[in-house]
Amino acid sequence: MKQAGSNDAGWVDLHIHSTASDGTLSPEQILKMAQDLNLRAISITDHDTIKGAVEAHRHLTPDVELLSGIEISTSLQGNTLHILGYLIDLKDPALSRTLSILQNARKERNPKIIQKLQQLGIELTYEEVVKVSGGGEVGRPHIAEVLLQKKVVRSINEAFQKYLGANGPAYVDKYRLQPAEAISLIADAGGVPVLAHPFTIKTDSERDLDKIVSELVSNGLKGIEVHYSEHTDIQTLLYEQIAQKHELLITGGTDFHGARKAGVYLGVGKGNLRIPYRLVEALKEYKQAHS
Ligand code: AMP
Ligand code: ZN
Ligand code: FE
Ligand code: FE
Repeated sequence: MKQAGSNDAGWVDLHIHSTASDGTLSPEQILKMAQDLNLRAISITDHDTIKGAVEAHRHLTPDVELLSGIEISTSLQGNTLHILGYLIDLKDPALSRTLSILQNARKERNPKIIQKLQQLGIELTYEEVVKVSGGGEVGRPHIAEVLLQKKVVRSINEAFQKYLGANGPAYVDKYRLQPAEAISLIADAGGVPVLAHPFTIKTDSERDLDKIVSELVSNGLKGIEVHYSEHTDIQTLLYEQIAQKHELLITGGTDFHGARKAGVYLGVGKGNLRIPYRLVEALKEYKQAHS
């Protein structure tokens, strides 16, 4: 895949979850897979934790470049908005402090969700969910998996539709940062803040989306995840135009969760995603010019 003499050849995956959050592969396994797939660079972007990213640095493989990463859940008008952070300093004290607050919010929330499910007559325990999580940050996907194992639902999606989603009877909100706070946190840790999977933003029109992006840009947003497993060609084009208009860096990733997100594969998403290495070069150039 790599071509001699062509410095920006190769493919990357900049949106990956490990066992440190709700992925099913360890950072070491992810690196090994990336190496086998001939990916030139990856970033492990776990939800509200850098433990997987830190761990990955202990298992570096010679041919895969590792970018430090994170995905922070924020709250935008009651909806969830995810902000990715690349090339962050994993030793940044303020980042660690805030992440522990977010992790505590998860720890407070999960037993409440389980209690609600129990009140609905479903037999499950927090311990069962922790066991499924394998010791990383617990999230709703782990609870969904226990519901699936117990045949309460027939799919992870049904678990969200029927119980765990924002309108579900077992939904519990948790403390989340404002987008501006997550953006500053990432920037102050020397990283590049990027809007994750913009297709998840609930808007009625392209103009509304543009307004939200403008606001985020005024908060310090530097990039947008244009290439994503679930983006249609039309969406990809639209987000590319938005990137151009607001002079944002472009990133891309699969949101690989191992076996926990069926049909999404490392490096290629649903099969045809290809994210060029030059996007990584642009991220690094940006960081170098601004540090
Ligand atoms: P949490 O971090 O506990 O708020 O859970 C959020 C995660 O749940 C997201 O990152 C998604 O990966 C996953 N998720 C949300 N909705 C669904 C759904 N309908 N089907 C499957 N996974 C979902
Ligand atoms: Zn996830
Ligand atoms: Fe996300
Ligand atoms: Fe993700």
